[in-house]
Amino acid sequence: MAGRGSEGAPHGQPGGRTAELRERVGEFVRDRVIPYEPVLDAGGPDAVAALGVLQGRAKQEGLWALPLPAHLGGRGLTFGEYAELAEAEGASDHGPAALGSAPLLDVSMLERHAQSGVRDRYLRRLVAGETRTCYAMTEPEVPGTDPFMTGTRAVRQPDGRWAVTGRKWFTSGAAGADLVTVLARTDGQTGDREGLSLLLVPTDSPGFRVVRELPVLGATGQWEIEFDQVGVPADHLVGARGQALAIAGERLQRGRTLRCLRWLGQAQRAFDLMCERAVARGGSRGPLAGHQLVQQQVFDALLALRTTRPMVHEAVALIDAGKDAHIEVGLAKVAAARMLQQVTDAAIQVHGAAGLGPDTALPALFRTGRAARILDGPDELHITAVARRVLRGYGGLSPTRP
Ligand SMILES: Cc1cc2nc3c(=O)[nH]c(=O)nc-3n(C[C@H](O)[C@H](O)[C@H](O)COP(=O)(O)OP(=O)(O)OC[C@H]3O[C@@H](n4cnc5c(N)ncnc54)[C@H](O)[C@@H]3O)c2cc1C
Repeated sequence: MAGRGSEGAPHGQPGGRTAELRERVGEFVRDRVIPYEPVLDAGGPDAVAALGVLQGRAKQEGLWALPLPAHLGGRGLTFGEYAELAEAEGASDHGPAALGSAPLLDVSMLERHAQSGVRDRYLRRLVAGETRTCYAMTEPEVPGTDPFMTGTRAVRQPDGRWAVTGRKWFTSGAAGADLVTVLARTDGQTGDREGLSLLLVPTDSPGFRVVRELPVLGATGQWEIEFDQVGVPADHLVGARGQALAIAGERLQRGRTLRCLRWLGQAQRAFDLMCERAVARGGSRGPLAGHQLVQQQVFDALLALRTTRPMVHEAVALIDAGKDAHIEVGLAKVAAARMLQQVTDAAIQVHGAAGLGPDTALPALFRTGRAARILDGPDELHITAVARRVLRGYGGLSPTRP
């Protein structure tokens, strides 16, 4: 959270109702969520209980589900309004779950593309935090960067139901989820550009299995899951048959941008810790802050924060206006991931051994920064996609192949 100096903090004030909400969300994350982080990071029943306590408080304080639709029980902030406070909420990885914003992408996707029976059955419960979802695209056996290679299959049964078979991994939150949205091939052959669909699978269905946990640099939260002829009702197909990649693309644009805002919040937190440490840690020649090479770390981190933030908000503004934001989202994703890794690394360096030990959030923030360069599409994918779009504008390169 913003510290005493808060020099990397956002400039420009949000207007109207978001200004006050941003303040309150920031306080909630700083005073309530961050103290619980060690318990939440450890996972297991204690983490579930702690999250329940935080969610109850968020509801009491009127901070629950701020960006979710009002007619489903949320507060109904627009994407642009929510973006003004998503940085404060995301200063902790656990902020969105504690404040009920975590299902935003699933709720938006299902509201837009699910059939009416499915919407009636699940949406209110999702917004209330009574039902949890996860999203499974990536598979162990094929590159996640190439969805046409998806090996999971959904086969239409004579009674209209689907039978889903396959394996997914690094599915965030799968072990505690009630529903999983699965990318599966419903038509064609492996490698075809068509024939991929999304299905919503209840995790209590026979044949669904959590195979194992996949700790990421020691952190909990990722799982490998298996589908063995899992029966899925016909109306649980999300969107039209064969439309998975269009729906996933829509979801990823918003998802990546939200993630960038949260990474900004976490980088701000690391920056504040670094500056506080530099000023407080004294030696025989004065505080660390007096060393020019420490000042260099502060300058470079501030530069990274200040140059990344406007890029992320440019992507938000385009998405909010319904305009094409492929280039801006790609630029923001790569810039924000690099920035988080750079700022957390600098903060660790200035802390010395304490930066790697258990007494600050820096190891967890650094871990998020490292994972950021891989999840939501590795940086390389965004770099080549953005460059290709730009070069097409100069008359080079076809839309599909290098
Ligand atoms: C913490 C975390 C949470 C995740 N959560 C989820 C989730 O909830 N649901 C889900 O479905 N997945 C999730 N993932 C998986 C993530 O989306 C994939 O790891 C990512 O899409 C990359 O796929 P892959 O791991 O199969 O890498 P691969 O596709 O095998 O790629 C490996 C590497 O090859 C290089 N590469 C690939 N393509 C190119 C290219 N075109 N040009 C240059 N280099 C390239 C890159 O360096 C890349 O990192 C998560 C991952 C992490 C780490």
